[in-house]
Amino acid sequence: MAPLNIDYSTIVKIHAPATVANMVCGFDVLGFAVNDPYDEMQIRFSATPGITIINDDEYNLPTDPEKNVAGAALLAMMEEINEPVGFELTIKKNIKPGSGVGSSAASAAGAVVAANKLMQHPFNNEDLVRFAMNGEKLASGVKHADNIAPCIYGGVTLIRSIFPLDIVALNAPPLFVSIVHPQIEVRTADARSILQQKVLLKDAIKQWGNIAGLVAGLLKEDYDLIGRSLEDVLIEPVRSILIPGFDLIKQKAKEAGALGGGISGSGPSIFMLSKTQATANQVAEAMHQVYEQLSLDHHTYVTTVNHAGVRFVE
Ligand code: ADP
Repeated sequence: MAPLNIDYSTIVKIHAPATVANMVCGFDVLGFAVNDPYDEMQIRFSATPGITIINDDEYNLPTDPEKNVAGAALLAMMEEINEPVGFELTIKKNIKPGSGVGSSAASAAGAVVAANKLMQHPFNNEDLVRFAMNGEKLASGVKHADNIAPCIYGGVTLIRSIFPLDIVALNAPPLFVSIVHPQIEVRTADARSILQQKVLLKDAIKQWGNIAGLVAGLLKEDYDLIGRSLEDVLIEPVRSILIPGFDLIKQKAKEAGALGGGISGSGPSIFMLSKTQATANQVAEAMHQVYEQLSLDHHTYVTTVNHAGVRFVE
């Protein structure tokens, strides 16, 4: 790597989007980015070697770089820089940690994309995914890229393989996304630990039929095929028990016109895809009504698929 051109006056500012991992049937292999919410971050070189993290929000996340996912991602990146370097990173989280819409991925991906720009792009996108996955390992115990890859690449991404990395950015037709976030905590590590390690062949056949159908539906812009393929026979039946009202939310959302949807990442957020904004609004209202009836505190929002990934801002 060429020696760094260190300019202490340069500040790189970015927006790192929330992401929906799994996309129902594609556990650990599919994910997409959304336009709202996003984390705001800025980075500059620091004369102090190492990583200084400043939190500009109310979440009280660790500032120790080894305990903050953004720091873990940057530390992995720094192992491949052949000279001592210092970064000062300021994080303003708008994506609530533990909400299931890729809060940890936004911090990890945003940090390395911003640092890469500050250093005048020594690394490519695959390198950045590799570094950022160290943040996911810190948050959930395993390296996975189904939030990181769409956060960095934008749009819908297929992670065909992690070792070696093989990421495929997929074209998709316009999609509107309704998300409800019940204010309960589901830890990713817990949501992973309850999963069964063995599956029946008949279930596996259904699942890979759906993944293939979903990818084909996205590429062919066939909304009916997308809707039919948004079915998960492996993970959802186990995980949905952690989310109150899950089956009713799904039923009401479909009645309101959603193509389909399910648990966002490891939950507790639930997402639904729709063909139009008007339908997505009705779907969000239907999801809101269910939690009103259950007297469960929640937030709903309607957004669209983000095709840009992490954005540089002035
Ligand atoms: P999500 O799916 O919303 O990312 P996770 O459970 O995967 O939720 O990750 C959140 C966990 O990671 C929390 O335990 C949080 O304390 C920890 N964490 C550490 N640093 C960060 C960070 N910069 N942003 C978000 N979460 C972080």
